[in-house]
Amino acid sequence: MDLAGKNKELEKIAQQVATCKKCSLYKNATKPVPGEENPQAEVMFIGEAPGYWEDQQGRPFVGQAGKLLNELLQLIKLPRESVFIANVIKHRPPGNRDPLPEEIEACKEFLDAQIKIIDPKIIVTLGRFSLNKFLPGEFISKIHGQARFVEFAGRKRIVIPMYHPAAALRNERIMEELKFDFQKIKKFLKSSLSDEENKDEENKQLSFI
Ligand code: URA
Repeated sequence: MDLAGKNKELEKIAQQVATCKKCSLYKNATKPVPGEENPQAEVMFIGEAPGYWEDQQGRPFVGQAGKLLNELLQLIKLPRESVFIANVIKHRPPGNRDPLPEEIEACKEFLDAQIKIIDPKIIVTLGRFSLNKFLPGEFISKIHGQARFVEFAGRKRIVIPMYHPAAALRNERIMEELKFDFQKIKKFLKSSLSDEENKDEENKQLSFI
């Protein structure tokens, strides 16, 4: 699908999210938070649910956890505008409580459709709700930073489970682990490119020297 097609399809989903009443979260939410940034992203980040600031602005990861996410992206020189950022849940749970299973189920079709449209090579899960969508029953503490191949929306994708940035803000050890895991994204991105693309990448780099 070309960029215009992707934009159109993503806009359709955003409109469906805005009028969705499949669970009760819309009642207390200020704005829906469908997700944003690059529809042609090779890397897609999936968090949990909007918090206070996300709900105010209708944008994912714009509060404290978002500030950290932006810093981590800068650390590995992956511009925020080059990735896509979404959540498992598109409306804020009251008081930032954990999403309920029926809320995750109600929102599933939107996230699944977004993944299909964006078609990322790498999915970085942030937190356990996002992790368990792709790898049910796994624990972040056990497999964070380990890339797994997962068949999803018609193709094999690399899923890299990571701690949620909000957890890193509360715990110095988790912060170090998250920074360490982030460094691997570029490596996996390179290894997931086809030979042809890798050659292009090398040529591009050579032309900078
Ligand atoms: N935490 C999330 O999981 N998602 C956001 O968008 C913000 C904070």
